[in-house]
Amino acid sequence: MKQEKITIIGAGIVGCSIAYYLSKLGKRNITVIEQGPLFETGGSTSHAPGLVYQLNFSKLLTTLASQTVEAFKELNHEGQPSFYSVGSLEVANTQERLEDLKRKAGVGSSWGVEAYLLSPEECAQKCSLINLDKIYGGLYVPSDGIAKPLRAIEEMAAFTRSCGGEFYGHTEVTGVEVADGRVKAVETSSGKFETDLVICCAGFWGPRIGEMAGITIPLQPMAHQYALSNDLMELANETEEITTPLVRHQDSAMYYRQVFNGLGIGSYQHRPLPVEQNDITKYGETKEMPSIKPFTSEDFEKPWQDALDLIPALKKAGMKKGINGIFSFTPDGMPLLGESQKVRGFWVAEAIWVTHSAGVGKSMAEWIVNGAPTLDLELCDINRFDTYAQSPAYYKKRSIENFEKIYDIHHPFMQPETSRNMRFSPYSIRQKTLGAYFNEKSGWEQPQWYEVNDSLVATYEKSILKRKGWAAQYWSQIIEAEHLHTRKHAGLFDVTATKKRLEISGKEALGFLQELTTDNIDIPIGTVMSTLMLHELGGIKDEIKVVRKAASTFFCVLQGKSTQDCNEKIHKLASLIYLVIS
Ligand SMILES: Cc1cc2nc3c(=O)[nH]c(=O)nc-3n(C[C@H](O)[C@H](O)[C@H](O)COP(=O)(O)OP(=O)(O)OC[C@H]3O[C@@H](n4cnc5c(N)ncnc54)[C@H](O)[C@@H]3O)c2cc1C
Repeated sequence: MKQEKITIIGAGIVGCSIAYYLSKLGKRNITVIEQGPLFETGGSTSHAPGLVYQLNFSKLLTTLASQTVEAFKELNHEGQPSFYSVGSLEVANTQERLEDLKRKAGVGSSWGVEAYLLSPEECAQKCSLINLDKIYGGLYVPSDGIAKPLRAIEEMAAFTRSCGGEFYGHTEVTGVEVADGRVKAVETSSGKFETDLVICCAGFWGPRIGEMAGITIPLQPMAHQYALSNDLMELANETEEITTPLVRHQDSAMYYRQVFNGLGIGSYQHRPLPVEQNDITKYGETKEMPSIKPFTSEDFEKPWQDALDLIPALKKAGMKKGINGIFSFTPDGMPLLGESQKVRGFWVAEAIWVTHSAGVGKSMAEWIVNGAPTLDLELCDINRFDTYAQSPAYYKKRSIENFEKIYDIHHPFMQPETSRNMRFSPYSIRQKTLGAYFNEKSGWEQPQWYEVNDSLVATYEKSILKRKGWAAQYWSQIIEAEHLHTRKHAGLFDVTATKKRLEISGKEALGFLQELTTDNIDIPIGTVMSTLMLHELGGIKDEIKVVRKAASTFFCVLQGKSTQDCNEKIHKLASLIYLVIS
């Protein structure tokens, strides 16, 4: 059988991971095109210090990280490990942070990542360099560690080549040919490559490649400071690259790792340093790699003082050098994955940390080969952004906000502060008058409760569950009073923000919806059912609310983030049996 041609743009850790897993799943016609040299390409991977903290309040990101750790452990290169399982330590110097670490430990036990809360003294046993003065405690994850992505890449590339894959270094992609809504070829500095699929793994250059294909890749390159200390006397006897656990001190937005006899120190404390596409140099144009900007030492003054507070031994050692390294940030902090709905055959795998790289490679390969990944990647779907969110002004502001808050304590209901008030429902003036508290959903400002209903609280006081502390944040007891009042009497809900509404009618409508969804839709006229639409492998594609308006007329509301995809699927299926959709 003829193998489809797959072209991957970018030989960083993401491009190589995808090539590797596609090869494992039997793909034999893979070409990886890289503008820099192979494999220290000059992209973000080339200088990544490689800290891997698996635990994240997103279960998906935690799983992708754990899969990456397992994969890297198997990829020793020339007798050298691609992963050092030295463990990680996150220390708290506020009570709030300690509480957050407790929540994280809980997440760890739910999701199968071993994690222990430690007393200050136990923290010192794990890393004797830490000053315990202001430490309340820490979280220790034994399976975390340091990834060596360039070693992993060598092994992944060797496997891909052994399966027939090809890698072209010093070859710049200059254009993407699209015809009839499908990708056809990529143009490069060394000629044209005909292809069936393109996978854009170009790191922070992604938006440029997207533009060539006519799609928006909403990511913002940002510089982030990373410095190396001189040797520490306390590490003088070390012969290994790293034996001590990674240390993260989120209260000062900093992290630390051993590098032989010295320390690597990263800081997110500095002002946001967005980098524009036009300011990215070409490989060889400057002494440094394209992903490195000159170190702005003034931004490191305060972080360095904080570093001395936490690790006093650094004072004597002093700092050796630093970089402002570039990598990608997105409006919601999640990667950008999947096939573009605008240009078929154009796949994207962007804004991915080394931490999640092999996990993403595996999922992308499954998605391409099997039609769906094993993990639910809806939160990362490249098509999740509506048109308004594809404006550079929007995603730049949101990405900067994400940079600034990267080490903050995140409440699940915490709301973004920038790029708000994009979309209001027709009732918004009335809602504001009633004292609405708004959350943002897909750009819509959605009321969560109305202050005017405060008077209902006394009526339902006995039935309202009391919340305090963390659970009471971004919440009001008015929500429960409104809920109870609606159950007893009635309430009017503004569903303007639901993503897509369709009316499906015709004599086949019932049968069609029975086929499409997981429930029995043969419900009485005038009633509503919440049900699911599945994808080809049986996973959940979207949640749908179905209202039966008449015997053969149904009103459907699609809820999920990949609604456009579901909408297209419904239209495609319906066209086969001549259903009317409006
Ligand atoms: C200072 C710093 C510290 C970091 N620390 C960590 C950390 O501790 N842990 C962690 O998990 N992550 C860390 N990261 C993030 C991590 O390095 C990146 O997210 C990751 O390496 C991105 O991999 P990638 O393959 O997507 O991108 P890249 O490695 O940038 O690869 C993209 C490739 O695409 C190529 N390319 C682009 N355009 C073209 C074109 N037109 N034609 C051909 N080829 C093209 C580029 O040359 C490049 O090689 C850090 C980043 C920085 C900057």
